[in-house]
Amino acid sequence: MKIAVVGIGVAGSYLLARLNEKYIVEGFEKLEKSRYFPICAWATSKNEMSKLCKRVGLNFDDYILYVGREMLLDLGREIHSIKLRGLCTFDKLRFEEDLIKDSRLKFGVDVRSPPPGYDLVIDATGFNRSLLPRIKENYFIPTVEYRVKFREPPYDDFYIKPFKEASGYLWCFPLGDSLYHVGAGDYLKRHLEAVKNFVEKHRGEVLMKIGRPIRITPPEYCQPIYVDNIVGVGEAIGTVYPMLGEGIIPSIYSAESLVENLENLENYRKTILKIFNPYSTVFEFIKRALASRLELKRDLALLFKIYLHMRFKEERYGIQARVKDFLKVIKTIYWRKRGFVKD
Ligand SMILES: Cc1cc2nc3c(=O)[nH]c(=O)nc-3n(C[C@H](O)[C@H](O)[C@H](O)COP(=O)(O)OP(=O)(O)OC[C@H]3O[C@@H](n4cnc5c(N)ncnc54)[C@H](O)[C@@H]3O)c2cc1C
Repeated sequence: MKIAVVGIGVAGSYLLARLNEKYIVEGFEKLEKSRYFPICAWATSKNEMSKLCKRVGLNFDDYILYVGREMLLDLGREIHSIKLRGLCTFDKLRFEEDLIKDSRLKFGVDVRSPPPGYDLVIDATGFNRSLLPRIKENYFIPTVEYRVKFREPPYDDFYIKPFKEASGYLWCFPLGDSLYHVGAGDYLKRHLEAVKNFVEKHRGEVLMKIGRPIRITPPEYCQPIYVDNIVGVGEAIGTVYPMLGEGIIPSIYSAESLVENLENLENYRKTILKIFNPYSTVFEFIKRALASRLELKRDLALLFKIYLHMRFKEERYGIQARVKDFLKVIKTIYWRKRGFVKD
């Protein structure tokens, strides 16, 4: 089988590494090699990534930059600490470079229609979804991120501040050596101002500014995920946990499912819908929150489902999920949204 992988982000590069022993595989990337940089905060769970890396012959420990102890959650009136269980930042650029090092690649090619001569064309173009049909319900969060050096870092661990309307959050994640990714995503578009103010307030030296929207529509609503000989993986088919904007591990999960179902795309579709079914619940919750239709009493069952998902997957997310933390966060966000608690 001759396969084209279009888009060499984390899903595309993982696929190239997984497929190139058994198939003839070629990769196409829109950006020039010298300009390529993964727009991302580079945070992930080291537990899960260590397992996934073994399948492509890499040792995840070689890429870790910083392992967190606690997540400092700024709720306005107080900073609440949540224990971490393996959340880390890693060198995503070097990781992707190592994944593709044995592959045949063409950089600087913007692919808008399936390249001819391939049995299978994989749309791994992330948010762009350049080859598959448009999505009807395309929810996304605009983001911006600065790479910053702080002489006096404001926080020495993972830090997050949700926006008042629960429409997104600001993050400040350590990369080691006084380097940080400071970014924000906000459905109500206050992200640019929030990041600028944060970095100015803490007198950070800005080394780079990047950003792009994150899709939060889950796979159930990103169908079709295959048409003829074109099949999607990663953010192109909505593999982002809508609550956190976490897409690295979910994109690799989708790539792994495709490897397992390469010759049966209908099976691949069914597997994706099954794996990402919990994301539809979270998406429903987020949609209600964004439309200001959250009712604590009515939505308790939905919230409990989300809590259980996180509770049984602490290692997977790298974050300890305790009911008292969960309730505190939800309660504060809910009261802040209604203006009962001032920042
Ligand atoms: C600011 C920000 C911070 C984030 N932080 C985190 C985080 O800390 N942890 C986490 O887990 N997730 C995070 N995410 C989400 C995560 O980065 C993505 O969900 C994940 O990288 C998606 O992987 P992908 O390979 O599907 O797409 P991408 O990584 O977006 O890769 C798609 C590739 O396709 C290329 N491309 C696009 N169109 C074309 C075309 N027409 N022809 C050829 N090539 C094309 C692009 O240039 C790109 O290289 C963040 C996202 C953003 C925007």
